Amino acid sequence: MWVDINVHLELMSASSESVNQVANASSVNFIATGTHPDQWRWLVSRTRYLAFGLHPHYAADSSDWLSLLEHYLCSHPCLAIGEIGLDFRPYMPAREIQQRIFEHQLALAKELDRPVIIHAVKSHTEVISTLKRVGLNRFVIHAFLGSEDVAAAYLTLGGYLSAGGLMTRTPRPRALDVFRNMPTYRLLLETDSPDLPLTGMIEGSPEHLPMIGRSLAGDLGISVSALEQLSYSNACVLFDHDFAQ
Ligand SMILES: [Zn+2]
Repeated sequence: MWVDINVHLELMSASSESVNQVANASSVNFIATGTHPDQWRWLVSRTRYLAFGLHPHYAADSSDWLSLLEHYLCSHPCLAIGEIGLDFRPYMPAREIQQRIFEHQLALAKELDRPVIIHAVKSHTEVISTLKRVGLNRFVIHAFLGSEDVAAAYLTLGGYLSAGGLMTRTPRPRALDVFRNMPTYRLLLETDSPDLPLTGMIEGSPEHLPMIGRSLAGDLGISVSALEQLSYSNACVLFDHDFAQ
């Protein structure tokens, strides 16, 4: 059983039924991450494992999204929080607004003891200091591409790092060294579907996770079945439920 910790089901061109079916046929369970209230409403009845959060891209949303998020979290005990985070690329909402909504959601995660899937782009220093300030240690950095030092800071805080399709590309990304050297019990896998398709594919899909796993297992020097088992057992620990059931 593979576990894909980050699928944007609502953005995929195939229907949710068909994505669920092909993932199932490929021995992949996945977490669908809803990054905006409209997506939460759409996703809630469409697949089993879910994470809801307000992505920094939507940081300027003026609805009462925080109450709605709290409502979903309280009525779904297995619901994780994500993707949330900080993204300091120039076209994104102002940093102060991003920072505020990130902290609100981290505080909620801490209060309700939920795991968090974090999006960090050009913002590792601020994400690390915010996690320290809030005192949150149940998290994964999705599609990690940072340096060994940044990885060490997240790992020291108790975090997990997630590897995706970018690790299969040529030239080989530098972050592969991070995944080679980190403790394997903190490693997770994702496709970030439909984003980050594998080379030669138009769209990512959770059914591609075993291909990412085969490539990464070669780089890590472990068997594919060992990596599959790690992807499953590590996800069960962080998300506190059995993805095989
Ligand atoms: Zn992201």
